[in-house]
Amino acid sequence: MSVMKTLKKNKVVRSTSSSLNGQNLNPYEVARTQLKQTCDILGINDGTYEMLAKPRRSLVVSVPVKMDDGSLKVFDGYRVQHSTTRGPAKGGIRYHPDVTFDEVKALAMWMTWKCAVVGLPYGGGKGGIRCDPKKMSRGEVERMTRRFVSEILPVIGPYRDIPAPDVNTDAQVMAWIMDTYSTNQGYPVHGVVTGKPLQLGGSLGREAATSRGLFFNMLFALQVLGKPLAGLRIAIQGFGNVGYWFARIAKDADFKIVTASTSGGGIYNPKGLDPEKLQTYYKKNRTLEGCKEGDRISNQELLEVDCDVLAPCALENQITASNAGKVKAFLVVEGANGPTTPDADVILDKKGATVIPDILANSGGVTVSYFEWVQSLQEYFWSEREVNIKLRDIMENAFNAVHQTSQKRKINFRKSAYVVAVSKVLEAHKLRGLNP
Ligand code: NAD
Repeated sequence: MSVMKTLKKNKVVRSTSSSLNGQNLNPYEVARTQLKQTCDILGINDGTYEMLAKPRRSLVVSVPVKMDDGSLKVFDGYRVQHSTTRGPAKGGIRYHPDVTFDEVKALAMWMTWKCAVVGLPYGGGKGGIRCDPKKMSRGEVERMTRRFVSEILPVIGPYRDIPAPDVNTDAQVMAWIMDTYSTNQGYPVHGVVTGKPLQLGGSLGREAATSRGLFFNMLFALQVLGKPLAGLRIAIQGFGNVGYWFARIAKDADFKIVTASTSGGGIYNPKGLDPEKLQTYYKKNRTLEGCKEGDRISNQELLEVDCDVLAPCALENQITASNAGKVKAFLVVEGANGPTTPDADVILDKKGATVIPDILANSGGVTVSYFEWVQSLQEYFWSEREVNIKLRDIMENAFNAVHQTSQKRKINFRKSAYVVAVSKVLEAHKLRGLNP
């Protein structure tokens, strides 16, 4: 069955025409569809598919917060543990106005596959609060975080479920989570979150880890594709933690960043951009608009710009059936989670573009989160060099396993990454058995 037909059958697509821009896609249904396709490849029966598709445990909470003006606001919060078969749940917490229960369920499922594809001893989890942190003071964000942690306290912990940063949450937010959890336990629990500040047991190399992993994956892909490195032009959508560090690491390795963007649009310069200058401008103005380093470019134009590598590093559903045909890059490395819709995947495939999927491409972040957790539990800390060497080894092994499976089964990298990941989770499930 074609992807579009499967999506329609599963009611993922609500109306045929408007759905094509990606805005109407429900991320959880996209995640279920990706899993269903993998189960079909592996010959997994319907019951087992349902078991793998449904989150093991979900907690929906109300988060009352006293605002600075004295009013009381109640936010919707979620923590979903999609799987704990291979280890404790692991995954970030997102603060965004578009957060929904289904989005969190999808992100939790993607975390399960991500941890499995790289071989980390974790299941998958995710959390989020539907809020607009850009319109809140730091004090309001802190009170919201602490109250959210109090609400989800029974289900998190260093051996249960370990949160981390995601969109609009940072090391400071992780410090508040660690503090709220620790004060409830009565002693400091460093292992309850990752992405913490260094002073509280964070790991060297964590800040840039997702992007460093993305960079390694790009290099491995260029190698197997037999493409020359010299003169490579990179386009980056999203200039937050992932986009900025990816730009910086790539620029340091002499690659050319031709365009980068934030939610308000971006900057294009075919001669190459300096990520430091963009970062300085962005920090000052909270936008790249008006930056004199290049010409203005919209986010739509960015995806279709003349370049060799496209790195979507913002949000889900950016490369869709309506723009995939216009993507000029021969390689897409997914820094963001879920940036390419399933129907866009088919179009990119037909064009001969290679996509290194999110669960592999951006797994450097959770890999160094795992290193941080290990260091936190042992209270023994490694050098940044050690972290980066271990990261490269894990990324290389994961990439090679996915590449070999893709060659053996003659499937693209996304399907192959899913086959590797789902097989590992299923194997662990079979070994543990169903209780009772
Ligand atoms: P962030 O909040 O630091 O940055 C997000 C960036 O995307 C910002 O620059 C924002 O302006 C931009 N943006 C938002 N909407 C956009 C749009 N429509 N078009 C273009 N730009 C847009 O978040 P982050 O931590 O860099 O995460 C980005 C993505 O990477 C998310 O999908 C996240 O789940 C994924 N991810 C992050 C990590 C991590 O370690 N931070 C790890 C794995 C995956």
